[in-house]
Amino acid sequence: MNEEDKTANAQVLCGKCKVPIQGPTEPTEDSIFKCPDCGASDTHADVMKEVGEYFHDTTARTLQSHMKKAARSSKMITYKGKDVADREYKFILSTI
Ligand SMILES: [Zn+2]
Repeated sequence: MNEEDKTANAQVLCGKCKVPIQGPTEPTEDSIFKCPDCGASDTHADVMKEVGEYFHDTTARTLQSHMKKAARSSKMITYKGKDVADREYKFILSTI
């Protein structure tokens, strides 16, 4: 499965409640999406921006842990990357 498939089938979840957020099926940038549990809401544009950052950071963290593992088991590789900072996400993706 490539990255594109992963995000295409992903549901956007509330970062806090881990339940799918609700909004129009054919949203515009200004459409409001809302968590049915805690009421956290944002425009479609902001939701997409947040899950984009979530996706980017999660992918970077996964890559980083692979690199660190490889570096530990090999004398040829040293890994000096900077850790991806942990943060809270208002919205996340269901598949990663
Ligand atoms: Zn919520």
